[in-house]
Amino acid sequence: MLQGSLVALYRRCGKKGCRCERGEKHGPAYCLSYKEGGVTQMVYIPVSRLEEVKKAMGAFSRYWELGVKLSRVNLEQMGLKKRRRV
Ligand SMILES: [Zn+2]
Repeated sequence: MLQGSLVALYRRCGKKGCRCERGEKHGPAYCLSYKEGGVTQMVYIPVSRLEEVKKAMGAFSRYWELGVKLSRVNLEQMGLKKRRRV
């Protein structure tokens, strides 16, 4: 599984007379963006591995959702009183 978000990047290459000079930027190039100790990290994802990364991100989402559900169940089982809505 993979945690993070996919970012599509469009860029100018800097070559004279390239179509990107007229605003048709190159791309998209994909990056997986995630935070490590408060610093954003970007990992380049080749298009050939995009599906693999998307699947792994989906797996992380399911893992996260399950964790949240489990937390709710555990909380219930601890028999703690819920605070009334104010
Ligand atoms: Zn260009």
